[in-house]
Amino acid sequence: MSVEKIDTLIIGGGQAGIALSEHLGGEGVPHLVLERGRIAERWRSERWDSLVANGPAWHDRFPNREFSATGPDGFTPAREIVSYLVGYAEQVGAPIREGVEVKSLTRQGDVFVAQTSAGVVEAKNVVAATGPFQRVVIPPLVVASSGIVQIHSAHYKNPAQLPAGAVMVIGAGSSGVQIADELRKSGRRVYLSVGPHDRPPRRYRGRDFVWWLGALGMWDAKTVAPDMAHVTIAVSGAEGGHTVDFRNLAAAGITLVGRSVGCENGVLRFAPDIEANIRAGDETYLSMLRAADEYVRANGLDLPPEPAAHELGPLPDCVTQPLATLDLKAANVTAIVWATGYGLDFGWLKLDVFDCAGNPRHERGVSAVPGLYFLGLAWLSRRASPFIWGVWHDAAYIAHHIATHRQALAAE
Ligand SMILES: Cc1cc2nc3c(=O)[nH]c(=O)nc-3n(C[C@H](O)[C@H](O)[C@H](O)COP(=O)(O)OP(=O)(O)OC[C@H]3O[C@@H](n4cnc5c(N)ncnc54)[C@H](O)[C@@H]3O)c2cc1C
Repeated sequence: MSVEKIDTLIIGGGQAGIALSEHLGGEGVPHLVLERGRIAERWRSERWDSLVANGPAWHDRFPNREFSATGPDGFTPAREIVSYLVGYAEQVGAPIREGVEVKSLTRQGDVFVAQTSAGVVEAKNVVAATGPFQRVVIPPLVVASSGIVQIHSAHYKNPAQLPAGAVMVIGAGSSGVQIADELRKSGRRVYLSVGPHDRPPRRYRGRDFVWWLGALGMWDAKTVAPDMAHVTIAVSGAEGGHTVDFRNLAAAGITLVGRSVGCENGVLRFAPDIEANIRAGDETYLSMLRAADEYVRANGLDLPPEPAAHELGPLPDCVTQPLATLDLKAANVTAIVWATGYGLDFGWLKLDVFDCAGNPRHERGVSAVPGLYFLGLAWLSRRASPFIWGVWHDAAYIAHHIATHRQALAAE
């Protein structure tokens, strides 16, 4: 069998793989990108129909191309992010081969050997750019035989996909709150199971929260604070972007419940934590307003004060007198949407590069195995790492690392 040889192999043709291709091209490093689906496959097939970017178009993009369809302050629909990334790959001449899956990666001597669905590729360097969200996570709470349709948010498309009846949405990060609201607007009765969350203000004193994250240096945070490690973030670019406030969701008719912790005989059980979760989320919101106010004061900025933003209304009844359980059948719940996040899946990577929790060992994406890199993972170098604009900067670092190492070898 013929073996294809390449200097650097990038696995994954999403935004991370494309950004890295641009930088490797700039450094003159020969490379190949293998993508098992199509370019930006996850933006095509693992996002719901109405999804728009979480950040405004001026921010959620690569530096060298703007979004043509959305004004700078608009929130780009997922389908336009696909066209953008396809266009970007063309613009930078990324050598992407679609429909080729890497089945395994091993090391033989000083080369990596990738067994793919279309033959063998040997490479001196390999970059795993297979995404921060590789496999869906569904806690094993509700048995499959319950008769209730259960899907993960990655496979939710629109309300018509679900059987008639009420819906339980479990998880109240950006996906859960947006899906719950869409289902509610389609006329469904909706329950939303809310765990610990961070809900930043969408806009404050005339600036979007992504601007504030930059001003306050929060995009550059290197690690997640231990007490925030399991806290999801609830933001929305839907309908022009708005702050997620659970009071509004409840006022619109969604029943908020605590974290789902068990299910016995079709009765879902909730932790008695809904009020604490909402109050802690309020505190993340208010603390960002306070930090922004302090920044305005310290820097003498002329940004209009917004005292009303600090006023939160009373908590809704479903929060102060929460349901402890819900008999799913009696409540006519016919579907559960699990918006419970994602895990990693590096089953194809047959190298000793993982810690005991299964996470890749690396520093800013440079692994302990010489020539092996990771890109696009959450907190790879900082908070910005998994996002469109953040991954571009991590890609520059990794491309430069690869190029410098090549030069050193060439000099030897
Ligand atoms: C609901 C949702 C909304 C989001 N909204 C935003 C947003 O608004 N703005 C933003 O900046 N970020 C957003 N993100 C985060 C992030 O931008 C996306 O997750 C993005 O898809 C990550 O890009 P990536 O290139 O790192 O990984 P992916 O897009 O996951 O790309 C990895 C690619 O690798 C391929 N692949 C995997 N395994 C193999 C293999 N063995 N062989 C070959 N190919 C393989 C996959 O098919 C995939 O195409 C969102 C995430 C989610 C879940």
